[in-house]
Amino acid sequence: MKASCQCGKLTAEVADGAEAMTILCHCLDCQRRTGSPFGTIAYFPREAVTVSGTPSEYTRTGDSGQTLTRGFCPECGAAVYVKASRLPEITGVPVGAFADPTFAQPIRSVYEQSKHEWVPDFQGMTHHPRGRETSW
Ligand SMILES: [Zn+2]
Ligand SMILES: [Zn+2]
Repeated sequence: MKASCQCGKLTAEVADGAEAMTILCHCLDCQRRTGSPFGTIAYFPREAVTVSGTPSEYTRTGDSGQTLTRGFCPECGAAVYVKASRLPEITGVPVGAFADPTFAQPIRSVYEQSKHEWVPDFQGMTHHPRGRETSW
């Protein structure tokens, strides 16, 4: 499985057989990060993700005081990985970067306290008013 930025210069390759833990997040930071009403990130064991290219990084501090670092292409701006300081053993990959409509759906929907009203309650996942997007 390979995630890619829009121009293709930055990629994140996921090792075969690595299991994804996919979280859908409605927090305001994910809204700003994606420009979309929610973000969807698949988390993998860090050793399963190989980044190629030269990323720029942006780090923000979440409401837990922990940081989330996003790696994005300096050319086209699209992100291909995120790393949470609280969970150094995993790397997240934005699901859209795989450009794979068959990618498994998220198991958890978090920060529904800031969910846009028109977004439906998605089936097949647990729902949380808050919660760390990277919690397992
Ligand atoms: Zn790019
Ligand atoms: Zn979020």
